[in-house]
Amino acid sequence: MLESLDDIITMTDNDNQVQMHHPENDAQYTGLQVNAGVEQPPIVSPYIKNRKRRQQLSVSDYVEGIRKGNKAVLGQAVTLVESLKPEHQVIAQEVIEKCLPYTGHSRRIGITGVPGAGKSTSIDVFGMHVLRQGGKLAVLAIDPSSERSKGSILGDKTRMEKLAVQPDAFIRPSPSAGSLGGVARKTRETIVLCEAAGYDNIFVETVGVGQSEIAVHSMVDFFLLIQIAGAGDELQGIKRGIMEMADGIAINKADGDNIERANLAAAQFRNALHLFPLPPSGWLPEVTTYSGYYELGIDGVWDMIDRYFDHVQKNGYFDERRRQQEQYWMYETINEQLQTRFYSNPEVQRLLEVKKQMVLNNQQSSFVAAADVLDYYYKQL
Ligand code: GDP
Repeated sequence: MLESLDDIITMTDNDNQVQMHHPENDAQYTGLQVNAGVEQPPIVSPYIKNRKRRQQLSVSDYVEGIRKGNKAVLGQAVTLVESLKPEHQVIAQEVIEKCLPYTGHSRRIGITGVPGAGKSTSIDVFGMHVLRQGGKLAVLAIDPSSERSKGSILGDKTRMEKLAVQPDAFIRPSPSAGSLGGVARKTRETIVLCEAAGYDNIFVETVGVGQSEIAVHSMVDFFLLIQIAGAGDELQGIKRGIMEMADGIAINKADGDNIERANLAAAQFRNALHLFPLPPSGWLPEVTTYSGYYELGIDGVWDMIDRYFDHVQKNGYFDERRRQQEQYWMYETINEQLQTRFYSNPEVQRLLEVKKQMVLNNQQSSFVAAADVLDYYYKQL
C-alpha cells in the first residue's frame, strides 16, 4: 500500500526509468501500469520575451527606408498599401504622398499572355537582361482571379528563379483582396513606392484573359503581348482589344521544331496589326519571335522596346500617356471610394435590403428603388 500519493517509487522497467507516481502502479494491482508522462513544453515559448516584436515604423521611417532602397522596409510598405485596415491605409497614403516627388523616372512595362505562354520564364530572362544593363527591377503582378482560384499567376518567387536571388530585383505577387479596380490601384501605388526606392524598371505582369489588361495598360509605358505559335489559326481566341492595346507582340517558344511555326505566326500578326488604325503613339506595334527557355532572340525583344521608348520620348507621347494615366487613376480612385463608402454605409445596407425585396416582389421598379436609395444616401451626407 502506498502511504501517500506523494510517494514516488522509481523502478527499472525494460531499461526505461518509470516513475511510480500512481496508486495503480502498486504491486497489488496487476495487469495495469501507468507510465510517467512525457514532459510537455510550455504552450507559451519561454523565449518570446527575448524576441523583439516587429516595430511599428513611422511614416518617416518608411519613407527613409524606401529612399535608401531597403527591400525589407519596401516590402512592409507594400503590405500596408495592400492592407484593408483603415489605420494602415492612412499611413500608406501618407507614405505614398511623401514618395511621389521621387517617382516617374522608370520604364514601366506591362507583360501579358495566356497561362502557359511563358511569362514567368520570359520575365526571368528579360529581367536578367535588364539587370545586366545596370538597372534595378521590380516585378509586380495584377491577377484579380487570385483570391478565388488561388491565382493564375502563382504568387511564389520560385517562378523566377534567377531573378529571385538578385539583390537588385524586387518581386511581389499580385495583391489578392478586392475588386479588379482595387487590386490594380494597389499595384499602381506599389509602383510609386518601388520608383521611390530606386527601381528604374518596373514589370507589371497579368494574365491575358480578361479585363486586367486594361488596368495594366493604364499604368505602363509599353505593353508587351506574349504569344505562342499554335497549330491552325494563330489569331483565334485573342481578343481584338488586347491586340489593339499591345505596343509589341513577342512570339515565344521559337525554338527547335517550332521556329517555322513561330515565324508564320509572326507574319500573321504583322498582317493583322496593319489592319488596325495607327495608335496615338504613332508607333506601329512590332512583332518579334524569341525563346525564353533557350534565351534566343532576347536582344531582339529588348531592341524593340528600346526603339519604342526612343520614339515616344521624341514625339512627346511618353509624357502625354502618363498624364492621361494620372487622370484615369484619379477617376478610378474616386469611383472606387464612392462605391466603398456607399455600400459600407449601414443605413444604406438596411434600406437596400428592403428595396431589393420590393423589386423582387414587383412592388417597385428598379429605377425608382435605386433613386430612393441614392436620395437617402445623399441626404445623409
Ligand atoms: P506562364 O504561365 O505564362 O507564366 O508560363 P511559364 O513561364 O510557366 O511557362 C509554361 C511552360 O512553357 C513551362 O513548361 C516552360 O518551361 C515552357 N516554356 C516557357 N518558355 C519556353 C520557350 O521559350 N520554349 C519552350 N520550348 N518552352 C518554354
